[in-house]
Amino acid sequence: MRIGILGGTFDPPHKGHLHMALCAQDSLGLDQILFVPCSRQPLKREFPAASGFHRAAMVAMAISRRESWLLEPIELDQGGLSYTIETLSTLVQRFAGRDLYHLIIGQDSFASFPRWRRFEEILSIAKIVVIPRDPVIPEPLTPAIPADRVERISARPVKVSSTAIRERLSLGHSISGLVPRAVESYILKQGLYREGIHREPIGGDRDG
Ligand code: ATP
Repeated sequence: MRIGILGGTFDPPHKGHLHMALCAQDSLGLDQILFVPCSRQPLKREFPAASGFHRAAMVAMAISRRESWLLEPIELDQGGLSYTIETLSTLVQRFAGRDLYHLIIGQDSFASFPRWRRFEEILSIAKIVVIPRDPVIPEPLTPAIPADRVERISARPVKVSSTAIRERLSLGHSISGLVPRAVESYILKQGLYREGIHREPIGGDRDG
């Protein structure tokens, strides 16, 4: 099985995330894509604005139309800071190492990849699939990242971010077209992101 792993804060999930999954699946013939919402991203200063419960619910809605796209709550269940190497190691054990892993990340995340915990070990488990993002950020030039462990997908960047969506909502602007319809309805119904960014203690988003 060729498995894609798309991790993120998904605060909220948006059309850019779905575009990444589509591009990677079409280009690499992935059998499954696991969407993995983090509890808290070590390289982000802010805590997620929405609880893990809401973020997982929104991811589930965003991916519900594709049978091969699955929500993987492993990092939310664990709480605290989420490290990709730990998640990958657990998944490899769970599937008894039978699978080929592809870690799907945006070009901005790839720029910070050498700062990820034990990134060399990540490269030994998974290939990195890089999706173009606008604006373009200079990429890491380090021999520690062998070219044959990186797949670059060529696609037109989709300029949308969770930050821009949260900002629009806090200003009372429409987010129509930026997120799947079900996610938009959920956000409005639950009144998410109306007050801009608020803080939660580490692990506080484990069970919503
Ligand atoms: P924020 O604006 O809050 O930082 P984000 O929009 O970058 O959030 P995340 O959930 O943090 O979304 O991102 C998860 C992964 O998706 C990261 O690898 C990120 O680079 C990638 N990504 C997010 N949006 C896009 C996009 N529009 N195009 C390509 N990659 C993207």
